[in-house]
This record gives sequence, C-alpha cells and structure tokens, in this order.
Amino acid sequence: MRRQDGSRSRECRTDVAKACCLLAGLDEFVHDHRPHGTLTGGATEPAWNGYLLTVACPCGVIFERWVTPEEADADLLRLAALN
Ligand SMILES: [Zn+2]
Repeated sequence: MRRQDGSRSRECRTDVAKACCLLAGLDEFVHDHRPHGTLTGGATEPAWNGYLLTVACPCGVIFERWVTPEEADADLLRLAALN
C-alpha cells in the first residue's frame, strides 16, 4: 500500500506541474483574446477520466484543454472568473 501511495504522489506532482503550465496558458489566452470580445467558456460532459474544457474567442481561436477530475475544481473556478 505504501509503495502505491508513493508512486501516486509522484504522478500527482507531475499533474500539478502540468496543470500550472496549462492554467498559465489559459491566463495568456484570456489576456490575449479578451480585447476581441466576450470569451465563451464551455465543457464537454464529464467522463470518468475528466472532460474537455474549451474557451472560445469571437476571433475564431479556441483554447482547448483536457481537465482531469483532480483539476476540475480549480478550472471551474477559473471559468467562473471569466464569466
Ligand atoms: Zn481572439
């Protein structure tokens, strides 16, 4: 059991690092595209392994990002902040 926990936390650290990068990417997207108009946030139906988060700009660029269940709360907060 202990061994499994150890490998799990390694994965978690990696996921957190990725989440930080990708959320930083979302910040950049919002910063770059907010002047174009209203950004529309959306998400696919949640599946067992997460869901696809999308933020669409009126200029035609869409930010897409797969969100794992562990990250979902943080991303939903971001989306809420956008709207
Ligand atoms: Zn744009």
